[in-house]
Amino acid sequence: MSHSPILRRNTQVVQVGNISIGGSSPIVVQSMTNTDTEDAEGTARQVFELAKAGSELVRITVNTTEAAAQVPRIRKMLDDMGCDVPLIGDFHYNGHRLLTEFPECAQALAKYRINPGNVGKNRKGEDQFAMMIGVAKQYGKPVRIGVNWGSLDQDLVVRMMDANAKLPQPKDVAEVTREALIVSALEAAKRAEELGLSHDQIVLSCKVSEVQDLIAVYRELTTRSDYPLHLGLTEAGMGSKGIVASTAALSVLLQQGIGDTIRVSLTPEPGGDRTQEVVVAQEILQTMGLRAFAPMVTACPGCGRTTSTVFQELAQNIQTYLRAQMPTWREQFVGVEEMRVAVMGCIVNGPGESKLANIGISLPGTGESPSAPVYVDGEKTVTLRGDNIADEFTQIVNDYVTSKYAKRASSDKPAKRIEIKAV
Ligand code: SF4
Repeated sequence: MSHSPILRRNTQVVQVGNISIGGSSPIVVQSMTNTDTEDAEGTARQVFELAKAGSELVRITVNTTEAAAQVPRIRKMLDDMGCDVPLIGDFHYNGHRLLTEFPECAQALAKYRINPGNVGKNRKGEDQFAMMIGVAKQYGKPVRIGVNWGSLDQDLVVRMMDANAKLPQPKDVAEVTREALIVSALEAAKRAEELGLSHDQIVLSCKVSEVQDLIAVYRELTTRSDYPLHLGLTEAGMGSKGIVASTAALSVLLQQGIGDTIRVSLTPEPGGDRTQEVVVAQEILQTMGLRAFAPMVTACPGCGRTTSTVFQELAQNIQTYLRAQMPTWREQFVGVEEMRVAVMGCIVNGPGESKLANIGISLPGTGESPSAPVYVDGEKTVTLRGDNIADEFTQIVNDYVTSKYAKRASSDKPAKRIEIKAV
């Protein structure tokens, strides 16, 4: 089935290390560590895992002198592991000091995130902001002017609320606050340019935690500038709530061509896997048809027609297997990330859905003959039976990949980011 293409908003292109953000560049997936940056080994290990999962940029907090001192070591450890993912430094309150006192940290980072809400107040704040922009100019680094609902410049809010109160028909508080977010980002970007940073060194974000507010803010922001936009619902939450809220907000905006880089801010469960936010971000982009990262598995939800867990296990195993193979397959085969695999629970929709996929299997439902027809490019090729269906189907998938996707020439290798080596 063909779909209308999503027309991306026209923006400047900002170069962050080897990654381009904006213009016609692919929408970039990014993430952030939750390790203490002073723990260089632990942070490098998590950056490595996030990058291995597919994060194309990774942000680390730089909050103390010791953290700033460790940033060059973290960069070096990653380089030694063959991981060239650009590192972004997240600065609040003391960024002016850390960036000027630790030039090797400033040099090792590929971008600085500056929050205008907490660079300081009045003249002192202006000076501190100017110091950070001065470092960005000196090292040729881009910045993200990242405004956040929870740390919005309160002086600006008060000024705008006072002005609003004097209007014959004042707007509601939420509307003024949304406008304050946008004004804060745009004024800081304008100031950065007045200080000599070039237009194509600036990315903007205005993060809020409510879906409708995020959509309203970014729709408005997009009409007022051509800076690339970093999208993300801040404090999205845990588990399915965080995933659903982020997906709802980002999908609406992405469908309208808004957004050049995304982060899904999930609260991991204690001891949970930080890389989940990367997988969710990729899946948002892939299910919307904006990018392809790994073969997608179509699976039916199951119902009373298939009461055994065989098909659930096969669907899960094949999805895990495909994702695990991707670091190798991506290097070897052109376009393998676009492969579609169907794992279906019975004859009702099984054959039909299987025919639409590159490879599909229709498992037997309760009471059906214990056979599983396999379809390859729409044609039934074999019927599997017995206890080894999972292994045999995996082998069919492997054979399909090696026979259908062109081998990459060594000169055509995708940018190599990761070598699998322990820290
Ligand atoms: S394909 Fe069969 S098992 Fe799966 S949901 Fe439909 S009817 Fe149920």
